[in-house]
Amino acid sequence: MKNQKSRFDGGIIKKFRKGDEVKVVAGKEKGKKAKVEKVLHKEGKLLIEGVNLYKKHLKAKSQNQKSEIITISKPLPLANIALICPKCHKQTRVGFKIEKSQAIRICRKCKAEI
Ligand SMILES: [Zn+2]
Repeated sequence: MKNQKSRFDGGIIKKFRKGDEVKVVAGKEKGKKAKVEKVLHKEGKLLIEGVNLYKKHLKAKSQNQKSEIITISKPLPLANIALICPKCHKQTRVGFKIEKSQAIRICRKCKAEI
């Protein structure tokens, strides 16, 4: 028996993929455009290149080591992110169409497969 349920499990995750161009639509980084670096499935968050940066202080573990400050990206919740369609270059919502029992991503604006 086929597992029908799994097809749309985690639909929100499939909306975004690594390398997608996205725009932040809420929060302090609102308006920024960048690429998805990583999709964090469990957390329902996206790590976006150069967005939501914060400084982390690394303390020296030994006397020979210097403590340093590094800048890292913090993931943002999916709800704060909109996809930029690679076809029509507009901020869009992701839709799906079913073909041969596979969900294919489409742009809701121009209907292109993405
Ligand atoms: Zn489009």
